[in-house]
Amino acid sequence: MRRKLVAGNWKMFGLKTDLGEIEKIAAAAAANPQVDVALCVPFTLIAPAVAVAAGLPIGAQDLHEADKGPHTGCISGAMLAELGATLTIVGHSERRADQHETSHDAWAKAAAARRHGLKVILCCGETEAEHNAGRAERIVQSQIEKSLPDLAGPEWLTLAYEPRWAIGTGKTPSLEDIAAMHAIGRAKLRTMVGDAADGIRILYGGSVTGTNAEAILATDNVDGALVGGASLTAEKFVPIIEAAARVSR
Ligand code: PEP
Repeated sequence: MRRKLVAGNWKMFGLKTDLGEIEKIAAAAAANPQVDVALCVPFTLIAPAVAVAAGLPIGAQDLHEADKGPHTGCISGAMLAELGATLTIVGHSERRADQHETSHDAWAKAAAARRHGLKVILCCGETEAEHNAGRAERIVQSQIEKSLPDLAGPEWLTLAYEPRWAIGTGKTPSLEDIAAMHAIGRAKLRTMVGDAADGIRILYGGSVTGTNAEAILATDNVDGALVGGASLTAEKFVPIIEAAARVSR
């Protein structure tokens, strides 16, 4: 059985004054041991978060595909590992939109993370226009095909299905649509990695809150959540961890 994973993505939010929130989230994670919890914070908060968040895996939100080199302003997997990060997000739709990253970039970044022992949350998801045009299935299949790293396995890879139109908008797909897209993701994984696909967690991301989390997390093939806005405070994030614990009983 796949354990639920609730991962927070702090995006470009958070200063040292917010470390108290991370301590509270770490305490909630410890109190709900049937669920895996992780927090992906800005680069600047990785080391301070590791220092206060005993037992809570702290991750990054991106890395460069190269191990080192003349890449001004970028950060490598080795640097993240040295800071104490144990995972990273790659291919987030905000990076695809803002930094024009492609699925091939996500593939190379996932491979770089793997070289440095970092677990990977690989994001995929269609835009609103693609959704409305009935192209979600094809887009997500193609993103998985192009960005899935070699030898992808459940011990280090998690997929996150995040319809772009649901991110930060308060809109979510129906539970039926979420189940259908996750089944499509699982089937695609199976064509690429065979039986290992059964162990790879597929998270749902997009406007998950304490109110809708339990129903989403109880949906077929939903193995957890990637949470943006509602992960920024313990008050909003802990109810999502608790919802995951309830559906894991
Ligand atoms: C995200 O950025 O990955 C995300 C899911 O954001 P939000 O929860 O705010 O929609």
